[in-house]
Amino acid sequence: MQKQKPQLSVEFAGQVAVVTGAAQGIGRAIAEELQRRGARLILVDRNREGVAAAAESMRASQGSQVDSLVANLAEPAEIDALAARVQGLARQVDVLVNNAGIELDLPLGQITAESFDRVMAVNLRAPLLLSQALAGQFPAGGGAIVNISSIHSSHAFANAIPYACSKAGLVALTRNLALELASRRIRVNAVCPGYIDTPLWDEWLRGAADPAALAEQTEALHPLGRRGVPADVASAVAFLASSQAGWVTGTHLVVDGGLTVRAHP
Ligand code: NAD
Repeated sequence: MQKQKPQLSVEFAGQVAVVTGAAQGIGRAIAEELQRRGARLILVDRNREGVAAAAESMRASQGSQVDSLVANLAEPAEIDALAARVQGLARQVDVLVNNAGIELDLPLGQITAESFDRVMAVNLRAPLLLSQALAGQFPAGGGAIVNISSIHSSHAFANAIPYACSKAGLVALTRNLALELASRRIRVNAVCPGYIDTPLWDEWLRGAADPAALAEQTEALHPLGRRGVPADVASAVAFLASSQAGWVTGTHLVVDGGLTVRAHP
Protein backbone atom coordinates (compact mmCIF):
# COMPACT_ATOMS: atom_id res chain seq x y z
CA MET A 1 0.00 0.00 0.00
CA GLN A 2 1.28 3.48 -0.85
CA LYS A 3 2.29 5.55 2.17
CA GLN A 4 0.12 8.64 2.71
CA LYS A 5 1.90 11.96 2.36
CA PRO A 6 2.07 13.89 5.68
CA GLN A 7 -0.60 16.61 5.73
CA LEU A 8 0.60 20.22 5.90
CA SER A 9 -0.34 21.17 9.45
CA VAL A 10 -2.64 24.16 9.72
CA GLU A 11 -3.42 24.00 13.41
CA PHE A 12 -3.24 27.79 13.72
CA ALA A 13 -5.47 28.54 10.72
CA GLY A 14 -7.65 31.58 11.45
CA GLN A 15 -5.50 32.52 14.45
CA VAL A 16 -3.47 35.68 15.00
CA ALA A 17 -0.03 35.38 16.58
CA VAL A 18 2.00 38.32 17.90
CA VAL A 19 5.73 37.59 18.14
CA THR A 20 8.15 40.09 19.70
CA GLY A 21 11.81 40.33 18.72
CA ALA A 22 10.81 38.85 15.37
CA ALA A 23 13.30 40.70 13.15
CA GLN A 24 15.91 37.96 13.46
CA GLY A 25 17.12 34.90 15.33
CA ILE A 26 14.76 32.81 17.44
CA GLY A 27 11.83 35.24 17.14
CA ARG A 28 11.91 35.14 13.39
CA ALA A 29 12.09 31.34 13.38
CA ILE A 30 9.09 31.18 15.74
CA ALA A 31 7.11 33.50 13.47
CA GLU A 32 7.98 31.41 10.41
CA GLU A 33 6.98 28.18 12.17
CA LEU A 34 3.62 29.59 13.27
CA GLN A 35 3.04 30.90 9.77
CA ARG A 36 3.83 27.48 8.27
CA ARG A 37 1.15 26.10 10.60
CA GLY A 38 -1.44 28.56 9.33
CA ALA A 39 -1.26 31.59 11.64
CA ARG A 40 -1.60 35.18 10.60
CA LEU A 41 1.41 37.02 12.04
CA ILE A 42 2.07 40.37 13.65
CA LEU A 43 5.82 40.80 14.01
CA VAL A 44 7.13 43.29 16.58
CA ASP A 45 10.67 44.61 16.96
CA ARG A 46 12.54 47.80 17.74
CA ASN A 47 14.63 47.23 14.61
CA ARG A 48 12.53 49.01 11.96
CA GLU A 49 14.38 47.81 8.86
CA GLY A 50 14.90 44.29 10.24
CA VAL A 51 11.26 43.68 11.10
CA ALA A 52 10.03 45.14 7.82
CA ALA A 53 12.44 42.89 5.91
CA ALA A 54 11.37 39.81 7.91
CA ALA A 55 7.70 40.54 7.19
CA GLU A 56 8.40 41.14 3.52
CA SER A 57 10.28 37.88 3.11
CA MET A 58 7.61 35.91 5.00
CA ARG A 59 4.87 37.40 2.83
CA ALA A 60 6.81 36.46 -0.29
CA SER A 61 7.49 32.90 0.79
CA GLN A 62 4.10 31.93 2.23
CA GLY A 63 1.58 34.40 0.87
CA SER A 64 -0.42 34.71 4.12
CA GLN A 65 -0.95 37.94 5.97
CA VAL A 66 2.06 39.25 7.89
CA ASP A 67 2.18 42.71 9.47
CA SER A 68 5.08 44.34 11.24
CA LEU A 69 5.06 46.90 14.02
CA VAL A 70 7.97 48.85 15.48
CA ALA A 71 8.21 49.31 19.25
CA ASN A 72 10.91 49.63 21.86
CA LEU A 73 9.51 47.27 24.50
CA ALA A 74 11.75 48.78 27.17
CA GLU A 75 9.35 51.76 27.16
CA PRO A 76 5.97 51.14 28.85
CA ALA A 77 4.31 53.89 26.80
CA GLU A 78 5.41 52.15 23.60
CA ILE A 79 3.84 48.91 24.84
CA ASP A 80 0.50 50.66 25.36
CA ALA A 81 0.72 52.21 21.88
CA LEU A 82 1.65 48.80 20.44
CA ALA A 83 -1.40 47.14 22.02
CA ALA A 84 -3.64 49.78 20.43
CA ARG A 85 -2.03 49.23 17.02
CA VAL A 86 -2.43 45.46 17.33
CA GLN A 87 -6.13 46.01 18.06
CA GLY A 88 -6.36 48.17 14.95
CA LEU A 89 -4.84 45.41 12.83
CA ALA A 90 -6.60 42.29 14.08
CA ARG A 91 -9.98 41.48 15.55
CA GLN A 92 -8.31 39.31 18.22
CA VAL A 93 -5.03 37.86 19.44
CA ASP A 94 -4.81 34.09 19.88
CA VAL A 95 -1.09 33.65 20.55
CA LEU A 96 1.47 36.00 22.09
CA VAL A 97 5.15 35.04 22.10
CA ASN A 98 7.27 37.24 24.37
CA ASN A 99 10.62 36.58 22.75
CA ALA A 100 12.48 39.94 22.55
CA GLY A 101 15.44 39.92 24.89
CA ILE A 102 18.89 41.36 25.47
CA GLU A 103 21.96 39.93 27.15
CA LEU A 104 24.67 41.97 28.84
CA ASP A 105 27.84 40.07 29.67
CA LEU A 106 28.97 41.79 32.88
CA PRO A 107 31.16 40.61 35.77
CA LEU A 108 29.80 41.43 39.22
CA GLY A 109 32.02 44.51 39.64
CA GLN A 110 30.74 46.11 36.44
CA ILE A 111 27.01 45.74 37.04
CA THR A 112 25.31 49.09 37.62
CA ALA A 113 21.76 49.90 38.65
CA GLU A 114 21.24 51.22 35.11
CA SER A 115 22.53 48.09 33.34
CA PHE A 116 20.52 45.80 35.65
CA ASP A 117 17.34 47.81 35.06
CA ARG A 118 17.95 47.88 31.30
CA VAL A 119 18.01 44.08 31.09
CA MET A 120 15.01 43.73 33.42
CA ALA A 121 12.97 46.24 31.43
CA VAL A 122 13.23 44.28 28.18
CA ASN A 123 13.44 40.68 29.42
CA LEU A 124 10.98 40.73 32.32
CA ARG A 125 8.92 43.93 32.58
CA ALA A 126 8.00 43.99 28.88
CA PRO A 127 6.52 40.44 28.86
CA LEU A 128 4.45 41.38 31.91
CA LEU A 129 3.20 44.69 30.49
CA LEU A 130 2.54 43.32 27.00
CA SER A 131 0.66 40.27 28.35
CA GLN A 132 -1.38 42.62 30.52
CA ALA A 133 -2.06 44.99 27.63
CA LEU A 134 -3.07 42.25 25.18
CA ALA A 135 -4.96 39.92 27.56
CA GLY A 136 -8.22 41.72 26.81
CA GLN A 137 -7.78 41.07 23.08
CA PHE A 138 -7.84 37.26 23.44
CA PRO A 139 -11.15 35.66 22.42
CA ALA A 140 -13.56 34.26 25.03
CA GLY A 141 -12.27 30.75 24.27
CA GLY A 142 -8.76 31.78 25.34
CA GLY A 143 -5.39 31.29 23.70
CA ALA A 144 -1.73 30.93 24.61
CA ILE A 145 1.18 33.04 25.77
CA VAL A 146 4.69 31.63 25.44
CA ASN A 147 7.61 33.39 27.14
CA ILE A 148 11.16 32.77 25.96
CA SER A 149 13.28 32.32 29.06
CA SER A 150 16.64 30.51 29.14
CA ILE A 151 18.62 27.81 30.92
CA HIS A 152 20.13 30.80 32.76
CA SER A 153 16.89 30.77 34.76
CA SER A 154 18.02 27.61 36.56
CA HIS A 155 21.81 27.41 36.08
CA ALA A 156 24.62 29.85 36.84
CA PHE A 157 27.03 30.94 34.10
CA ALA A 158 29.87 33.49 34.35
CA ASN A 159 29.09 37.22 34.04
CA ALA A 160 25.36 36.75 33.62
CA ILE A 161 23.70 38.02 36.81
CA PRO A 162 21.24 40.56 35.31
CA TYR A 163 20.31 38.23 32.43
CA ALA A 164 19.89 35.20 34.72
CA CYS A 165 17.74 37.17 37.18
CA SER A 166 15.54 38.40 34.34
CA LYS A 167 15.09 34.91 32.90
CA ALA A 168 14.42 33.31 36.31
CA GLY A 169 11.89 36.08 36.92
CA LEU A 170 10.29 35.26 33.59
CA VAL A 171 9.70 31.66 34.70
CA ALA A 172 8.07 32.98 37.89
CA LEU A 173 6.02 35.44 35.83
CA THR A 174 4.92 32.53 33.62
CA ARG A 175 3.60 30.54 36.61
CA ASN A 176 1.81 33.53 38.11
CA LEU A 177 0.33 34.76 34.84
CA ALA A 178 -0.91 31.22 34.19
CA LEU A 179 -2.85 31.36 37.43
CA GLU A 180 -4.18 34.87 36.82
CA LEU A 181 -5.26 34.16 33.25
CA ALA A 182 -6.60 30.60 33.69
CA SER A 183 -10.16 31.82 34.18
CA ARG A 184 -9.96 33.40 30.71
CA ARG A 185 -8.61 30.11 29.29
CA ILE A 186 -5.31 31.75 28.36
CA ARG A 187 -2.53 29.24 28.92
CA VAL A 188 0.91 30.66 29.79
CA ASN A 189 4.11 28.64 29.41
CA ALA A 190 7.81 29.26 28.93
CA VAL A 191 10.55 27.74 26.83
CA CYS A 192 14.09 27.68 28.23
CA PRO A 193 16.55 27.36 25.35
CA GLY A 194 20.20 26.45 25.77
CA TYR A 195 22.89 27.68 23.38
CA ILE A 196 21.16 28.56 20.12
CA ASP A 197 22.97 29.68 16.99
CA THR A 198 21.67 33.27 16.48
CA PRO A 199 23.08 36.80 16.17
CA LEU A 200 22.87 37.02 20.01
CA TRP A 201 25.08 33.96 20.25
CA ASP A 202 27.55 35.43 17.71
CA GLU A 203 27.71 38.62 19.77
CA TRP A 204 28.40 36.58 22.92
CA LEU A 205 31.23 34.68 21.17
CA ARG A 206 32.79 37.90 19.85
CA GLY A 207 33.21 39.07 23.44
CA ALA A 208 35.44 36.08 24.28
CA ALA A 209 39.26 36.10 24.14
CA ASP A 210 39.18 33.11 21.75
CA PRO A 211 35.74 32.88 20.07
CA ALA A 212 36.57 29.76 18.02
CA ALA A 213 37.78 27.84 21.08
CA LEU A 214 34.71 28.93 23.06
CA ALA A 215 32.39 27.81 20.24
CA GLU A 216 34.07 24.39 20.13
CA GLN A 217 33.99 23.95 23.93
CA THR A 218 30.33 24.89 24.05
CA GLU A 219 29.33 22.43 21.31
CA ALA A 220 31.16 19.64 23.16
CA LEU A 221 29.10 20.26 26.31
CA HIS A 222 25.92 19.03 24.62
CA PRO A 223 25.03 15.32 25.03
CA LEU A 224 23.17 15.50 21.70
CA GLY A 225 26.43 16.64 20.08
CA ARG A 226 25.50 20.03 18.72
CA ARG A 227 24.28 23.43 19.84
CA GLY A 228 20.70 24.36 19.00
CA VAL A 229 19.26 26.15 16.00
CA PRO A 230 16.30 28.58 16.11
CA ALA A 231 14.00 25.94 14.58
CA ASP A 232 14.55 23.74 17.67
CA VAL A 233 13.02 26.47 19.82
CA ALA A 234 10.33 27.34 17.28
CA SER A 235 8.84 23.84 17.23
CA ALA A 236 8.69 23.74 21.05
CA VAL A 237 6.92 27.11 21.05
CA ALA A 238 4.46 25.94 18.41
CA PHE A 239 3.63 22.89 20.52
CA LEU A 240 3.01 24.95 23.67
CA ALA A 241 0.93 27.48 21.73
CA SER A 242 -1.18 24.77 20.07
CA SER A 243 -4.26 22.91 21.25
CA GLN A 244 -2.06 19.82 21.60
CA ALA A 245 -0.83 21.46 24.80
CA GLY A 246 -4.39 22.31 25.86
CA TRP A 247 -3.90 20.96 29.39
CA VAL A 248 -0.44 22.51 29.86
CA THR A 249 -0.12 25.82 31.67
CA GLY A 250 2.28 27.51 34.08
CA THR A 251 5.22 25.33 33.18
CA HIS A 252 8.51 25.62 31.29
CA LEU A 253 10.09 23.38 28.70
CA VAL A 254 13.89 23.11 28.58
CA VAL A 255 15.19 22.92 25.01
CA ASP A 256 18.96 22.53 25.35
CA GLY A 257 20.18 19.29 23.73
CA GLY A 258 20.63 17.80 27.21
CA LEU A 259 23.18 20.44 28.28
CA THR A 260 21.77 20.95 31.76
CA VAL A 261 21.10 17.31 32.64
CA ARG A 262 24.80 16.50 32.54
CA ALA A 263 26.52 16.71 35.94
CA HIS A 264 30.08 17.03 34.53
CA PRO A 265 31.44 17.79 31.06
P1 NAD B 1 18.67 38.25 18.87
O1 NAD B 1 19.50 39.32 19.50
O2 NAD B 1 19.20 37.56 17.68
O3 NAD B 1 17.22 38.81 18.57
C1 NAD B 1 16.51 39.53 19.54
C2 NAD B 1 15.52 40.42 18.85
O4 NAD B 1 14.85 41.18 19.87
C3 NAD B 1 16.19 41.43 17.92
O5 NAD B 1 15.52 41.48 16.68
C4 NAD B 1 16.09 42.75 18.67
O6 NAD B 1 16.00 43.89 17.82
C5 NAD B 1 14.82 42.53 19.48
N1 NAD B 1 14.79 43.38 20.65
C6 NAD B 1 15.73 43.51 21.60
N2 NAD B 1 15.38 44.45 22.48
C7 NAD B 1 14.18 44.93 22.09
C8 NAD B 1 13.31 45.94 22.59
N3 NAD B 1 13.64 46.69 23.64
N4 NAD B 1 12.16 46.17 21.95
C9 NAD B 1 11.82 45.45 20.84
N5 NAD B 1 12.62 44.51 20.31
C10 NAD B 1 13.78 44.25 20.93
O7 NAD B 1 18.37 37.19 20.04
P2 NAD B 1 17.96 35.64 19.98
O8 NAD B 1 19.19 34.83 20.21
O9 NAD B 1 17.13 35.37 18.81
O10 NAD B 1 17.13 35.55 21.33
C11 NAD B 1 15.73 35.63 21.36
C12 NAD B 1 15.27 35.30 22.77
O11 NAD B 1 15.76 34.00 23.14
C13 NAD B 1 15.81 36.26 23.83
O12 NAD B 1 14.82 36.48 24.81
C14 NAD B 1 16.97 35.50 24.41
O13 NAD B 1 17.26 35.91 25.74
C15 NAD B 1 16.45 34.09 24.37
N6 NAD B 1 17.49 33.07 24.37
C16 NAD B 1 18.46 33.02 23.41
C17 NAD B 1 19.43 32.02 23.47
C18 NAD B 1 20.53 31.91 22.44
O14 NAD B 1 21.45 31.11 22.63
N7 NAD B 1 20.49 32.65 21.36
C19 NAD B 1 19.41 31.08 24.51
C20 NAD B 1 18.40 31.16 25.47
C21 NAD B 1 17.44 32.15 25.39
